[in-house]
Amino acid sequence: MGHDQLDIRNRLDEIRRESSLDLLGVADTGRASWGCQELSSAVSERFSRAIVVVARVSPSVLGTLVDGPNLLYYHHYRQLNFQLDRGALRIAQEIERIGYAALPIAASQVVDWATMRGHVSHREMAHLAGLGWRGRNNLLITGQWGAQVRLATVLTNLPLDPGSPPSAGCGDCQLCLSACPAGAIKREPQEFDREACYQKLKEFSKARRMGQYICGLCVKACSGSIQGRCGPTSKE
Ligand code: SF4
Ligand code: SF4
Repeated sequence: MGHDQLDIRNRLDEIRRESSLDLLGVADTGRASWGCQELSSAVSERFSRAIVVVARVSPSVLGTLVDGPNLLYYHHYRQLNFQLDRGALRIAQEIERIGYAALPIAASQVVDWATMRGHVSHREMAHLAGLGWRGRNNLLITGQWGAQVRLATVLTNLPLDPGSPPSAGCGDCQLCLSACPAGAIKREPQEFDREACYQKLKEFSKARRMGQYICGLCVKACSGSIQGRCGPTSKE
């Protein structure tokens, strides 16, 4: 890493800390399979890197969940999204200030309800940045806090060295399978039943008057304490 790049990276980490965010990683967007599908190619081709920021979800808030989302979790989820969006905005402003392009992508903004996708897949970018792997629950799983994290992304042309995907995976752990009230989580991550999950989130949203499609049960089940059960896997 050159001197200038190190300075920039240190400055980004400083903004992360000032924004009370927990992790920051850099992904090579050229390796993403569907990471930017909801952006036109004219836009996405301008950005060779994705900076992913991570905020930890409070274990105490998750501890209040019993059989689905509650108002404490709903409020916390929204606050984390604001925090991530604010941090991503500050990072994007800093990058533009030093003469590069930066496009902050909202932590939670669905643009295609059929596939429940946003402008980019934060999960895929975080995986490519080396921050975690794709779990059986279809979420990004970090070595530190399992799935108990939320993410936001800044696309940029800043020439930073990217991370690389970790070799770790869920290993023998299957804790989230029994936690899912929709039966959406399967042994193989690629068999995740997105439609069953979506229908359950819709049901929760209506029955519990949540302003958002959230659940939290498979997040609660996947904490950092499962770390010892996870390990390298050849399939993921
Ligand atoms: S609970 Fe276990 S199986 Fe489920 S996503 Fe987390 S690590 Fe993977
Ligand atoms: S969010 Fe809820 S319904 Fe969807 S996979 Fe996780 S536990 Fe199942």
